[in-house]
Amino acid sequence: MLNRRYNLNYQQAGTLIAFIVLAIFVIKFLNTPKNENPLTNKDEFEIGLCRTCVLIENKGLVIDSDRGEYLDTALIKKLTLLAGENKNWRITEAYPPTVQHLSFCHQNGTCADIALQRNLLNKDRLSNLCKDALAAGLTVVNEYGDLKYYSPNSFCPKPNIFETTTGGHLHVY
Ligand SMILES: [Zn+2]
Repeated sequence: MLNRRYNLNYQQAGTLIAFIVLAIFVIKFLNTPKNENPLTNKDEFEIGLCRTCVLIENKGLVIDSDRGEYLDTALIKKLTLLAGENKNWRITEAYPPTVQHLSFCHQNGTCADIALQRNLLNKDRLSNLCKDALAAGLTVVNEYGDLKYYSPNSFCPKPNIFETTTGGHLHVY
């Protein structure tokens, strides 16, 4: 009596085989690696969350040493435009970030901090840098907290100081 329960007729056996074959295909399909965009950089570890990052070097941009060496491609394009108009600044924070930031964009390379060269820092040059940055398509957050670098007719937005601000700079994206 017990045996009868496990006896399959041909139709049932056929259905079972078809099901197994289908299951194998589904499992194979799920295990197939997805076609991801190849990283533009060889150093996958450094790239981390910044899937659109490329090395900043050889792009005509000045960057402080040990302040990250990658940025998002689209951001680099805007910064390169800015550098064509204005040479008074350098990048002070790129990707990977070197300090804690409130803005998540620092964690994926889609924003950067830039600053006037120290010996050039004054209200007018800062206003000009904001003007040129805006013209290059950048959005500017002013993190120069000292009001002597700000005037109501400045092209820079009003200073916007965050706890994490470690020195006067413009946060751009
Ligand atoms: Zn920033």
